[in-house]
Parts: sequence; structure tokens; C-alpha cells
Amino acid sequence: MSVPIYWRNVRYKYRLIGTRCKKCGNVTYPPRVVCPKCRSREMEEIELPRRGKLITFTIVRSPPSGFEKYAPYALGIVELENGVKVIAQLTDIDLEKIQSGMAVEAVFRKYKENFEDGIIEYGIKFRPLLKQ
Ligand code: ZN
Repeated sequence: MSVPIYWRNVRYKYRLIGTRCKKCGNVTYPPRVVCPKCRSREMEEIELPRRGKLITFTIVRSPPSGFEKYAPYALGIVELENGVKVIAQLTDIDLEKIQSGMAVEAVFRKYKENFEDGIIEYGIKFRPLLKQ
């Protein structure tokens, strides 16, 4: 694996990368090729803040195919510090203790295992912001 590709992968996987429309300023996550607001294709990548506030959440007890063994789990809508809303799984917390309005931060966690081909997918999840 060449160094540039390695770094590109790290950039996408370990950081919260979104896109900003150069025409209307709309910020989206996950990254988009076309702006959903003005249909412009002039999108630039930006790193999003990792911290935010949990707006609302739901407990998923009947998950989509492939996620059965992870149920129940919590899916939340997080408003990042720059106002961008992200839908992601919540982690490192008891489901009973999740509250709307709580401070959260993005972490890098195992997302899904595919036992047939041995692939483990990783992605961004949110956990309660640790007190410092
Ligand atoms: Zn736009």
C-alpha cells in the first residue's frame, strides 16, 4: 500500500470529514458530490468538529439485516458544534442512561463484522463526552 493511499484512508476513517458547498456554504455529512441544497458540484472537504449535543435518539430493537446481533442499540441525531447534524450510533453508555441534550463526542469504533469474508467495518460513533 502506498503512503498517499494509506493517509487518504486514515483521513476518512479516523476523522469526521464532511463537505461544504463552495456556492451556498451548505455543509453535509456524510460527504456529498452534489450539494443537496443548490445542486452545485463545487464541493470541498472539511473536517467537522468531533463534539456536539445529542438532539434526539431512538433505541433500535429490530435492526436491518446484518445488524441483528448488535440489537438493541441506540441511534442518535447529534448536532455538532458547527450546527451540522449527524445520524450515528451511540456507544459506551447504558441505553437507560441516554438523555437528549447530553454532550457527546465522535469516536472510532467497530461498526459491523462480516463473518463470511472476515471483513470488519469501522466507522464513527458517538459516546458521552468524558469529563476532563
Ligand atoms: Zn450548495
